[in-house]
This record gives sequence, C-alpha cells and structure tokens, in this order.
Amino acid sequence: MQDIRTIGIPRGLLFYQYGVLWQRFLEELGYQVEVSAPTDRAIFDAGEAASVDEVCLASKTYMGHVAALLDGGRCDAIFVPSYDSADVRAGFCTKYQSLPDLVAATFADRMPQLITMRVSKANDRKQAKADFLELGRRLGAAPRRVAHAYKVAQRAQDAADAAAAAAQQETLHLLDKYRKVAASDPTGAEQPPLAILLVAHPYIAHDPYIAGDILAAIERLGGTVIFADQTDHAAAFKRSFDFSDTLPWLINRQLAGAITMLHQQVDGIVLLSAFPCGPDSMFDDAIMRNVQGVPILNLMIDAQSGSAGVETRLESFIDILRFQGKGAYLHG
Ligand code: SF4
Repeated sequence: MQDIRTIGIPRGLLFYQYGVLWQRFLEELGYQVEVSAPTDRAIFDAGEAASVDEVCLASKTYMGHVAALLDGGRCDAIFVPSYDSADVRAGFCTKYQSLPDLVAATFADRMPQLITMRVSKANDRKQAKADFLELGRRLGAAPRRVAHAYKVAQRAQDAADAAAAAAQQETLHLLDKYRKVAASDPTGAEQPPLAILLVAHPYIAHDPYIAGDILAAIERLGGTVIFADQTDHAAAFKRSFDFSDTLPWLINRQLAGAITMLHQQVDGIVLLSAFPCGPDSMFDDAIMRNVQGVPILNLMIDAQSGSAGVETRLESFIDILRFQGKGAYLHG
C-alpha cells in the first residue's frame, strides 16, 4: 500500500454499530482517522446522486459520506469493511457484504485507496479478532502492536455499548418512577409519561438527518424514546431466539430480543425502516403479527418523502396511547 497517514471512515451503516472499534483500532495503529460529519442535506443528496435508484436510503446515505470524505481531500484511504453471513443466525444484509465492491465501483475514478477487511462472524469474538489481526498484518504493523490495538479497541466498543445500555436502563427506571407519581396523584392532573420503543437499525435511529425529525416529534408530543438498539446486545441476541429460531440477521435479532425484553415496560413501539429494506420488510411484518399487547406503529421513510407526513401519524399514535392509558379501550 502507498504511504497512508489519514484514513477516512464514512459515518453510515455499521459505523453506528462498530464505529468505536474501527476508529480506535486504526488510531492505535498510528493512523489519523477522519470520520465524515453527521448526515446533512448535501451529504444525502450526494449519496443519492452517486447511487442507483433501487438501493435503500441507508446505503445511498453511506455513499454520500464516502463522497464527503473524498471531497475533503484529506484522506489517503477510506476504510470500508465487509461484514458477511458465515454465521447463518447472525448474518448481515447483503449490502454490508458487498459494500467494498460497491464503493470501489461507484468511485472508481476518484478513490485514493480502499482499506477493506472481511469480518466473517461478527458475533464470534475469536473469529472477529482473527479478522482484525489479519487486517493489521496487511497494514504492515507488528503482530504485538496489532494484538494490543485490537484489545484496546474492543474494550472501548464494549464500554460504549455498556454505557448506552446503562443509560437506557436509567431512563426506564425514571419513567417507572414518574408513572408511579402520576398514578398516585388524586387530582389526575399529572400526565404519565409515555415510553416509546424505537425499533430501527442503528444507522437509521441515530442518523440526525434520517430520524432527527421523528425523534423530535415524539419528544414534542410528550413521548420519551427508548432505543431498541441500545439494549444489552448479548442479552438481546439470546432473547431473540424466544421470538424466532430462524431469523438470519444479527441486528434484526438484537432488535427482536430488545422487543421481547422491553415490550411490557413501554407504552408503544415504533418500527422505523428505510425504503426499500429487504430484511425489515420481513422483520416488521413478523413483529406486527406476533407481538401482542402493545400498540405498534410501522413507519417507512424514503428519499422522496423523507419524514413528511410522519408527524400526523405519530400524533394519532400518541393520542391512541394516551386514550388507552386512560383505560378507554378496556370498557368498550
Ligand atoms: S438492512 Fe435494510 S436499511 Fe440496512 S443496508 Fe440492508 S437494505 Fe439497507
């Protein structure tokens, strides 16, 4: 490889799941890392222009982040890993698998260098470590340094995941407390808070351009968002087998497990997907059919409409939750 000092990481897709690990690993090997800025209109438009119509909104957005890094001109290489489905119960959408090829083909005339790697079993720590050690070797780092870099990076990712899960637990605990306060108010003036479980791939749920308006609308309408993807990943994965033995995608499994663990602690569930998402079209349908006892709103956002019209649907949904909270549907 030519002399590489600065490596760009596009802030899209699995960056929201493994970004801490990637960034820290490369930094520990001595590289400067530049992560593209959070998605905005310009990034999104660039991604759309670079993509064919048929790919999903999340994949288009990712291409916009690659373009932004290339436009910045500061990166000697772009890091685009491939996560595949060697584990048939913890695999990934084909977009993640083909991403290096897709990026290389899309930006063939302007790509400085592409640093890629194959993570064959993301849920298998031993195999994932071997995959990162192999990347470090290809980058020319000494084996001891690579092993240390991986250890530090994986610890940082684990700490970030644990902090997110702890914050989620704290929010649920506070909501429970407020509910009790509201229930004990003899005047009935206290409005109990509404906990909304947002079920979405992390690069949808936490991308400010894609989901920002939706999160803001929920909060404005008096709901508190609980992110399904911030549930303890290992526990959620395990619980997902109560929901399905055969679901093939790791992230959808983590989301299914989170629903199984949390549905009795929330007032409603919002399923949020990017158009056209193959895994979610099957997953969302299975959730709508099989999860009982809690109202579910299924939202799909696409490049044309964005979140337009979503607010009205959220308003109706939250009205229904409040109505139900007063027992209105129990005595019909
Ligand atoms: S899982 Fe869905 S939203 Fe995510 S990359 Fe695949 S098709 Fe796109």
